[in-house]
Amino acid sequence: MKIFCIGRNYVEHARELGNVIPTDPVIFMKPKNALLGSRAPFYYPAFSNELNYEAEIVLSVCKNGKYISKKQAYKYIDQVTLGIDFTARDIQNELKAKGLPWEKAKAWDNSALIGKWQPFHEEMLKSNINFSLEKNDETVQNGNSNDMIFPCDQLIAHISEYFSLNIGDLIFTGTPAGTGECSVGDILKGYLNNEKMFEVEIK
Ligand code: ZN
Repeated sequence: MKIFCIGRNYVEHARELGNVIPTDPVIFMKPKNALLGSRAPFYYPAFSNELNYEAEIVLSVCKNGKYISKKQAYKYIDQVTLGIDFTARDIQNELKAKGLPWEKAKAWDNSALIGKWQPFHEEMLKSNINFSLEKNDETVQNGNSNDMIFPCDQLIAHISEYFSLNIGDLIFTGTPAGTGECSVGDILKGYLNNEKMFEVEIK
């Protein structure tokens, strides 16, 4: 199982981190051990002093494939949810400044949280998927799939030019503006189309 993640897929988020707007999807990966087990506690990582949440639409791959066309992309996804791409922003900034890879900031154990799965339908590639994240009952991120620079079908086509997609792979599709810090004791709640997908406490 592989976890693909897309960076800088929303204009306002790319700007808030001072990044240029990409002309091609930015792809990085997290290993299997990055997936936080359902109901497993989430612990603030000891190596970071700046843990950030990034709420993202997550797709679940249901079919093996490579060189998938945009038109066929919907056939490869059967479930969708909201997740968090937890990021050690202090580590990432250090690595970025040195031009080094991001794994220590992004791919550590339990850095990928996913909510409960919802069925995915072809129309969802075109329609608005609304999502939001609350921190301690205050909305901190609001997103809509229509604002993606590279929509889901294009992401699937692009990823599969380089990597085989396999059943069980996950795709984190990028975070909108509003990413920020979380601290021990914070409660994060994620919503997809106003339905709660997860609730997690930072321990
Ligand atoms: Zn992300």
